[in-house]
Amino acid sequence: MSVAGTCEICLAASVSDTCMRCGQLVCAEHFDEETGLCVECLADGGGGEIPTDTEKEPFRF
Ligand SMILES: [Zn+2]
Ligand SMILES: [Zn+2]
Repeated sequence: MSVAGTCEICLAASVSDTCMRCGQLVCAEHFDEETGLCVECLADGGGGEIPTDTEKEPFRF
């Protein structure tokens, strides 16, 4: 493990935030303030919308 204080994505020394999801330290460029997530978690589907498994058809008669 490296010393805390560098962005874990680009290794920049100017860390500004910690991802609320994975907890890694990231710089401002790799942190999304709106969601509180790093870009990796954003790309992983943390864009705000809750993903649904499948589109279930409504139970109708
Ligand atoms: Zn970075
Ligand atoms: Zn993250």
